[in-house]
Amino acid sequence: MPRETFEEKTARTRKIISGLRKAYPDAHCELNYSNPLELLMATILSAQCTDKRVNIVTETLFKKYRSAADFAKAELSELEQAIRTTGFYRNKAKSIKAACRSIVEKHGGAVPRAMEQLIELGGVGRKTANVVLGNAFDINVGVVVDTHVARLSERLGLTKETDPVKIEQVLMQLVPREQWTLFSHLLIWHGRRRCYARNPDCPNCEVRGLCPRIGVKKV
Ligand code: SF4
Repeated sequence: MPRETFEEKTARTRKIISGLRKAYPDAHCELNYSNPLELLMATILSAQCTDKRVNIVTETLFKKYRSAADFAKAELSELEQAIRTTGFYRNKAKSIKAACRSIVEKHGGAVPRAMEQLIELGGVGRKTANVVLGNAFDINVGVVVDTHVARLSERLGLTKETDPVKIEQVLMQLVPREQWTLFSHLLIWHGRRRCYARNPDCPNCEVRGLCPRIGVKKV
């Protein structure tokens, strides 16, 4: 593919979005939650873990701990056991308790709606904050860059960056702001259902004609 101008890449990105929207009209966050606190907890648990496993764990967890105060005063060892199967459970339990303590002490028990306040909670990074703001509050302040978004952004020729923060900066330029949250869902859904890490299903790909397949073995 000859070198694209920024305008050409933006136009191609819009076509990719439209192709993926047709393929996945129902794309959404696959973590189960019924309020912002639950989404925050589920997102912390989802690090290095599948959404499916997190959903199994949170089904019981959210019945036992119903508020930030419940998590903040939870017995650490009990909380660790409850989330053990999501992996890295010691760190995750610490993050959950730290975040919930701050939510209780500084925000009256309610999850804050701003990036700066979220990342100050402790145990909450920019990616987690983006997930919560975009999905629980419908506020687009960034693009969630997980392993799927990073892989697909490269293959689709949207960026050569490998650092998630830099990838996010590029995607924020290419994608209209009101679609930032949707865009990461679309890439995540495509990454899970078609553009697998190994052996992506290019012959059946809905955006094959828009993809330079960077780094994919030609078959
Ligand atoms: S053409 Fe292949 S590499 Fe490109 S998005 Fe589709 S599945 Fe992924």
